[in-house]
Amino acid sequence: MNRPPLPPAIEPAELAWHNGVPESKRFGDVYFSRDNGLEETRHVFLQHNQLPERFSQIPEGGSFVIAENGFGTGLNFLAAWQAWQSSAPAHRATLHFISVERFPLTREDLTRALALWPELKTLADELLLHYPPLVRGVHRLVLAGGRVRLTLFFGDINDAWQSLDFHADAWFLDGFAPARNPDMWLENTLGQVRAHSKPGTTLATFTSVGRIRRALTEAGFRMEKTSGYGRKREMLKGILEAEGLVQPESPGTIAIIGAGIAGCTLARNLAERGHPVTLVDTQGPGAGASGNAQGALYVKLGVEFNDQTELALTSLTFAQRFYDRWRSQYWHPTGLLQLAHSPQEEDRQARFLQRNDYPRDILRPVNREQASALSGVPTQSGGLWFPDSGWLEPGNLCKNLADHPLISTAFGVEVSGLIPCNGQWHISTDGGSPTVADRVVICSGHVSPRLIPVSGRFRLKAIRGQVTHVPAKALINPKTVICGNRYLNPALGDIAVTGATFDLWDDNPAPTSESHDENIRELSSMLPSVFNDEDGKPSGEDLGGRVAFRCTTHDYQPVAGPLFNGEDSCLERLFLLTGLGSKGLTYAPLLAEYLADQLTGQPVCLPANLARRLQTRRLYQNDIAVSY
Ligand code: SAM
Repeated sequence: MNRPPLPPAIEPAELAWHNGVPESKRFGDVYFSRDNGLEETRHVFLQHNQLPERFSQIPEGGSFVIAENGFGTGLNFLAAWQAWQSSAPAHRATLHFISVERFPLTREDLTRALALWPELKTLADELLLHYPPLVRGVHRLVLAGGRVRLTLFFGDINDAWQSLDFHADAWFLDGFAPARNPDMWLENTLGQVRAHSKPGTTLATFTSVGRIRRALTEAGFRMEKTSGYGRKREMLKGILEAEGLVQPESPGTIAIIGAGIAGCTLARNLAERGHPVTLVDTQGPGAGASGNAQGALYVKLGVEFNDQTELALTSLTFAQRFYDRWRSQYWHPTGLLQLAHSPQEEDRQARFLQRNDYPRDILRPVNREQASALSGVPTQSGGLWFPDSGWLEPGNLCKNLADHPLISTAFGVEVSGLIPCNGQWHISTDGGSPTVADRVVICSGHVSPRLIPVSGRFRLKAIRGQVTHVPAKALINPKTVICGNRYLNPALGDIAVTGATFDLWDDNPAPTSESHDENIRELSSMLPSVFNDEDGKPSGEDLGGRVAFRCTTHDYQPVAGPLFNGEDSCLERLFLLTGLGSKGLTYAPLLAEYLADQLTGQPVCLPANLARRLQTRRLYQNDIAVSY
């Protein structure tokens, strides 16, 4: 057996193809029936979970959750999606499909396997377009305009069920045959099936092995043998008979304070799931830190593959998929170059490459010549090349995100306080009538601590950042984003944005020529040949730009989740999403997805170790008290 790869890579499946049907070399078993895999899926998993019928009964804004062990070729998933397409209610509802895979197929193998099903081609193409790079962890794929959400855990089944938070309506138990794939059918694993089920949850499996039937009966399922597909005489189906069907609480009305990238992605996410929201802002969409003309989709991945690195990576790959619908509009996936711009950074990148194994579709090292050729600007060093990254027009994007029939806006109002009243929140505004909502999410960047109705200190700080608009004619226009001690974007019209300063103790909201000069100086030290005329570099006094304040936490990690009252209980129905620092464009889409999952009571897209990192409680200092 080969040694497992360095993190975050995961071993792909090794396939053998017999008469066009894929077989696992490792397990010596087929992924689906040789007779007709699609018909088998329909018989075993769809029919015996009564799927089309149950789909049609989901209320507006509701969801149905299928969990599966063994994603394999994704055939079961596509068959369920196809059934959802024809039987889901006409109103907005979401199909969640949660699956785990220890040995994912490569994109090439997946393409070949799915080509067997011409009637699934449109869905397979969309899956392939979103199929994540082969790295460990959780990948949320938002498909069919958000009506279908696939949560793919790349890793071992026991880790998956321990770290994901969901309750399934139906299970597809589909490992390889128990004798060949015992890990998938351990008693403990079947116990996890029970733990992620609720009264009325159904399950189906192709196997009829007595031990499995007994274990599931023991776990509380009423099990039944029934006729299998094709040559298989028997299969099993079951239903969890337990008391106390807990209906998920409806999120009610939701208001979001702050229309930056965090608030706008969250509002749009909820609206697209069928939940109306009110978006409140002192000015309008993208007026604060998210209002720059250009911004890079950028993360700095740690040398150690720890939770922090995993969160940054998951956010980056999710954001790349998320922004794709604005390709050539506000999203420009030109690729991004992270230069080894100093001896320290060169050393850091060398250690990073030694200790990790990233698929080349995420990043790869490039030497100085390659870096210069890719970016179109002579560089002094090589670095890391992120082929699927690029730059955004954040201000325009925020406006577009906020424009949805289910988003009502209250712009141009100053929020003065949040007051609980009869189980709801009253958002009082200076001079206007209050907005009333069942749940409120504060997405107000560095202003957030002022709005949290708890007195005391929060470990959040504002860091001034000034960007400079460099006249495009003064530069060799880069073909890609270049990052180092500054970033430089390809020109947009007659300017290219560079920046930003990092001014910890400065609250001056106006651009200054000193900050422009600092940006130009840093840019020219990172890329000495970027200016067409070395002697005529633009100087601060003639330059345009913009100042905004990033909101950063004490540990430079974002926060997303319910707020607490200083002790241990939640501040009822009040949430916070902020602390994105200078990586808001990268973190916002995933964290909005995560918070929207929580607000709607749907399965969350993050594993427990990452959800823990985002908790709001870590911001609280000891002297916190409720202030209303
Ligand atoms: N449902 C799949 C489809 O529609 O193509 C077929 C699944 S195949 C029968 C079983 C899958 O379980 C394989 O892809 C295998 O790699 C995966 N698997 C086996 N052991 C596993 C484990 N311990 N954890 C996670 N996945 C595992």
